[in-house]
Amino acid sequence: MGGVTYREVLTKSALNRVQGMPFDWSLNPWAGCAHACRYCYARAYNARYRERDVGAGFDRNVEVKVNFADVLRAELRRHRKGSVAIGTATDPYQPIEGKYRLTRRCLQALAEFPMPTSLITKGTMVVRDIDVLKQLDAKEDVTVYFSIPTLREDVWRKAEPGTPAPLQRIRALRMLREAGLDAGVLCAPVLPGLSDSEASLEAVARAASEAGATAFHHRPLKIDIEIRDYYFQFLATEFPVLVPGYAQLYTGGSHADRGYERELEERVARVRNRYEFRLRPPRQREPETEQLQLAM
Ligand code: SF4
Repeated sequence: MGGVTYREVLTKSALNRVQGMPFDWSLNPWAGCAHACRYCYARAYNARYRERDVGAGFDRNVEVKVNFADVLRAELRRHRKGSVAIGTATDPYQPIEGKYRLTRRCLQALAEFPMPTSLITKGTMVVRDIDVLKQLDAKEDVTVYFSIPTLREDVWRKAEPGTPAPLQRIRALRMLREAGLDAGVLCAPVLPGLSDSEASLEAVARAASEAGATAFHHRPLKIDIEIRDYYFQFLATEFPVLVPGYAQLYTGGSHADRGYERELEERVARVRNRYEFRLRPPRQREPETEQLQLAM
């Protein structure tokens, strides 16, 4: 892969209203993602709304919204209703976060004006922010989800070439759990023929459970129309034997055949039942200063 070009831009808004999701707002401090997962659904989003190509336009050209945390803080001052998810269309802990600290500064703003927060990442840099995650968690629930579709090294290297190794993500998860934070695993997306066997799913579930993950969820691969050619080209280059099977499985559009998805769900349920994913017990919240004053 070639190098990544970063372009600093100014944004007018940070909180993005979403519909039909388990959260009300999303936060994406970057546009594009150097983690470069071949299957990434955000490539389609990038093509649709930013008119960039789904390949290098997404993973070799990343926009840095340099004023993002300041805009977020101003928005949080005005309203804080609902819950927020960080990293729905980009990874909040892709390598450039080490320089700009946009995600860290967003978490600091949220710790000051708290909202229930979830964060999804493949980045191990999240452990750097355990301190601020704990500050926020003392006021509102925070859950960190690690995206770990497989532990298979060959699949990881080819399908997620810019990401930390899956076992490093497991290690980061363990560190968050040891710090008392809520952290689970999204085994997603599950790639047909590459990471959908019971053995592959089980390897992820076992490692997640041993690291103390509080949840284990999956999502089947969706291939949006915008990335269909791109993804099939990836398959043709790296796993050509799979191309005819995919063509058949996705003959109806962006979702895999329903029978396949049902069977996958049953497979995941079987695996999940073999391991323990213990929900974190409710926490004692720090009393608000105002409440303390009233009680005195
Ligand atoms: S880490 Fe997430 S946002 Fe980044 S390329 Fe991979 S799937 Fe897309």
